[in-house]
Amino acid sequence: MKKKKKEKHGTIIKASKRSGSPIQESIRKKKKMEEEMGYKTVDRPSVSPDTDNEQLSGTTPDESPIIVTGVESFTFHKILGEGSYGKVMLATHQACQKQVAVKMVKKRLLVKDSRDEVLIERQVLEMTRKSPFISRAFATFQSQEHVFYAMEYLSGGDLTGFMTTNAPLPIPATRFFAAELICGLQFLHTSGIIHRDIKPDNILLDNNGHLKIADFGLAVMNIFGNAKTSGWAGTLAYMAPEILLEKPYNKAVDWFSAGVVIYEMATGRYPFVEDEIDENIKKALINDDPAFPKELDPHVKAVIEGLLDKSPESRQKFVDNIREHPFFMEINWTEIEGGKAPPPFHLPPPPVMTSDTMKDVNFSKAIKPRMAKKNQKLFCGFTFADDGWKVVKKK
Ligand code: ADP
Ligand code: MG
Repeated sequence: MKKKKKEKHGTIIKASKRSGSPIQESIRKKKKMEEEMGYKTVDRPSVSPDTDNEQLSGTTPDESPIIVTGVESFTFHKILGEGSYGKVMLATHQACQKQVAVKMVKKRLLVKDSRDEVLIERQVLEMTRKSPFISRAFATFQSQEHVFYAMEYLSGGDLTGFMTTNAPLPIPATRFFAAELICGLQFLHTSGIIHRDIKPDNILLDNNGHLKIADFGLAVMNIFGNAKTSGWAGTLAYMAPEILLEKPYNKAVDWFSAGVVIYEMATGRYPFVEDEIDENIKKALINDDPAFPKELDPHVKAVIEGLLDKSPESRQKFVDNIREHPFFMEINWTEIEGGKAPPPFHLPPPPVMTSDTMKDVNFSKAIKPRMAKKNQKLFCGFTFADDGWKVVKKK
């Protein structure tokens, strides 16, 4: 059974830290992080030889590739976000000056939580790199203690931050983001991937205002047709009743989480009881139907109700025809699928890195106990390079 950040008293993930709504919790987390940040020290990944044997490159032979040898290929500027596993930093690739987001995860954490599945996020990112609705990895590499994902920098940040200033979103904006989320989730599910941690923290916006699904740390792969999986995984406030009831489940769990997210977009509120006690949140997710603001558009309400259906079978049935729902009547799905539909919000351009902001973060050495040598082999094959990139093992 795989849990994200197991809390002291047992079964609950992350949500037990919540005293307010998930949105409020994330604002607090972000504020704390910003206070702490101020270019303060974070763990410096111990720079050590890549334990993969491969030298990997993408497949565009006509241009010389962007070469990554390890963290030293980048200048790190600031923390963009922090989840249960990873720290994501804004960085510039020194040789080509491209801005990227580098996610760094301690191997120890991955091994502790999911021995057999340490490569899952890297595998999903390789499989999904052609989808415009999935956060894209350019290269993955590793040191003795960490794995790294050099990813497209999504300068619009995550939906939590975006909703803090903009929710409730106007109905056309809710419709647009819901439509892009549907395309992203349907792409994943057709590829046999269940995300299992859909929530605003894991949904990002690029600099044009298009939506991208990120964070595949809890994903499962190869779930096709009627196949089901099991195991407690996700973030409590967004978890489908069938997971909470410890039943086998399928892709319908992602649609329940999407229902919570769309409710938050449309109303600026969390749909279920907001409680300090996890057991009460769990009960509400299993038993309660959310109340809706009276003035809410009836079509978006119907979509949310369909997604929050307690029965995974009828929820999935609803989703099978969701593109034809009256709420999406104005959506040109071909345009949306091609990433061509104009986004509802104009986002500020990404920050220009000047000599002031370009200063390297002063990392401190990682001092935590090192990962046992025998576990290094679990990370064999982690290295990956997208087209135009090359990961080179240091001599
Ligand atoms: P975790 O597995 O620890 O939850 P995530 O992959 O969700 O890590 O990343 C943590 C946070 O970092 C996200 O909630 C988001 O705020 C930020 N982040 C992640 N990827 C990017 C990216 N490509 N561009 C900008 N910010 C990002
Ligand atoms: Mg996350």
